[in-house]
Amino acid sequence: MANTAQSIPTTNSGIEEFDAIVIGAGVSGLYQLYRLRESGLKVRCVEDGSGVGGTWYWNRYPGCRFDSESETYGYTFSKELQQEWNWKEHYSGQPENEQYLNFVADKFDLRRDIQFNSHVTSAIYDERANRWDVQIENGQRLRAQFLIGAVGILSARYVPPFEGIDSFKGQSFHTSRWPKEKVDFTGKRVAVIGTGATAVQLIPIVAKEVAHLTVFQRTPNYCAPLRNALVSDETQARFKATYDEIYQKCLSSPAGFPYDFDRRKALAVSPAERLALYEELWAQPGFKKWLGNFRDIMTDRAANEDFAEFVRNKIRARVKDPKVAEKLVPKDHPFGSKRIPLETEYYEAYNRDNVLLVDIRETPIERITPKGIKTSDKEYEFDVIIYATGFDAITGPLTRIDIRGEGVQTLKDKWANGPRTVLGLQTAGFPNFFIATNTAFCNYTICAEKIVEWITDCIGYVRKNNRSRIAPTPEAEEAWVAHVNEAGSHTFLTSAKSWFVGDNIPGKAHAVLLYANTAPAYRAKLAETAAKGYEGFELR
Ligand SMILES: Cc1cc2nc3c(=O)[nH]c(=O)nc-3n(C[C@H](O)[C@H](O)[C@H](O)COP(=O)(O)OP(=O)(O)OC[C@H]3O[C@@H](n4cnc5c(N)ncnc54)[C@H](O)[C@@H]3O)c2cc1C
Repeated sequence: MANTAQSIPTTNSGIEEFDAIVIGAGVSGLYQLYRLRESGLKVRCVEDGSGVGGTWYWNRYPGCRFDSESETYGYTFSKELQQEWNWKEHYSGQPENEQYLNFVADKFDLRRDIQFNSHVTSAIYDERANRWDVQIENGQRLRAQFLIGAVGILSARYVPPFEGIDSFKGQSFHTSRWPKEKVDFTGKRVAVIGTGATAVQLIPIVAKEVAHLTVFQRTPNYCAPLRNALVSDETQARFKATYDEIYQKCLSSPAGFPYDFDRRKALAVSPAERLALYEELWAQPGFKKWLGNFRDIMTDRAANEDFAEFVRNKIRARVKDPKVAEKLVPKDHPFGSKRIPLETEYYEAYNRDNVLLVDIRETPIERITPKGIKTSDKEYEFDVIIYATGFDAITGPLTRIDIRGEGVQTLKDKWANGPRTVLGLQTAGFPNFFIATNTAFCNYTICAEKIVEWITDCIGYVRKNNRSRIAPTPEAEEAWVAHVNEAGSHTFLTSAKSWFVGDNIPGKAHAVLLYANTAPAYRAKLAETAAKGYEGFELR
């Protein structure tokens, strides 16, 4: 649905004025709009896409779905909503996720304050007026006292700058800009570049449709079985009856999922006991193999290696050709140091006669040609190239916007060596600019709701106390960055070349982008800061 927002009175200059502008209409932006509007603010939400959903609007590739349990990903703020919505699958697919967020937008009448097809190019802080001046690509300008970037952590797509990329005569797709119409692969020679979480969802499905599929892999991952299933009526009723319990379980767990680490240390138990737990975890759905494993799996090298070898052997057992299997086995990074892709028949895809794996560490891609892909070894011809090459994660969606704070410093310059914030929510020198994305290592909505509520309360506090602006002090920011780095140094989450630390993007500074503490610890810091009158923030 396009440009449905009602017309708002404009100033003489034709610039529309609001109390708050929210950029992005994904899980975070929709809730932020709802909360700010409920608190009495005049709000406009601006969204690049033509509909709501964010991640679940853009990523329409075959196989796209949750790795979080559906019943833990939905919003918890409305009991009515929880009772009205039925999840069809335990790990719900993109079409249903997009429907869910449309259902939310309709239920809470959010569309009237959202303008779609509106790409924000710049946001400039007018110090004298204490207003953010937001520019849309089509030339439209909006102004507001408060600006909230709900732009997501994985919304800035990344395509490697391959030489000749525009010369390809066939069809090309990036997985996060997938067309709304079904792509017909029948009889086609298809390439997939990348083997991250997205490619792992897509490959087994596309492999069944194409004439031939070639997968270009740089880094093999530790992929684990998703074990998705339909939600029975009985289970649906149980979800609805126990949503409070499910939520409390997620809140108390380290990463916002309905399971916790095993309290024992891996190597403190006998090999037989260890194997028994590994097998038990492996047979279960979801991230439990990662986040329900022995508690030192993410901190102790030997414990991690023990489970990593178990996973490698699971991979070897599923791939018929030992040479192909060895290429698919990760050996250069700890288990869980990159996001674990959850899969359904991923490894079996490589047992098909029409699927070929090309290791681009052995034979790098040299360029894209009019006919296909040229590696150091040979030229491969294709009808379709699928770029499953990921995102300029976490900071990219913000630094791609020309955001300027006090003294016209740009956010991009300020964050050249990595993000500098307090709590991930505000950055010094950018008053009244809030970042409503969840950068804690946490099941997304579980923490995003708390972030949105913190921002809403903070804005309420500023207004109630007759102040006009809030921003962190440089000292508090320095302390938070040091704390984030310190927290990151205790876990394998920051130890691989991954998007968690910006290493997937050439030239991007290596920095800890996630808050790798536990989710309860993060939420405690949110609550404590607010309770202490926004300690570390300067109000004027
Ligand atoms: C394929 C995939 C699967 C995932 N699976 C899971 C999962 O199972 N569990 C989990 O916890 N997380 C998952 N995630 C992470 C996911 O991004 C979050 O769960 C969540 O959807 C993020 O919501 P958001 O509203 O913060 O951001 P997004 O959903 O990314 O929404 C941000 C919105 O901002 C808009 N925007 C950005 N820049 C601009 C601009 N300049 N102008 C206008 N609009 C702009 C974008 O168009 C987008 O619609 C997954 C991510 C991907 C890509």
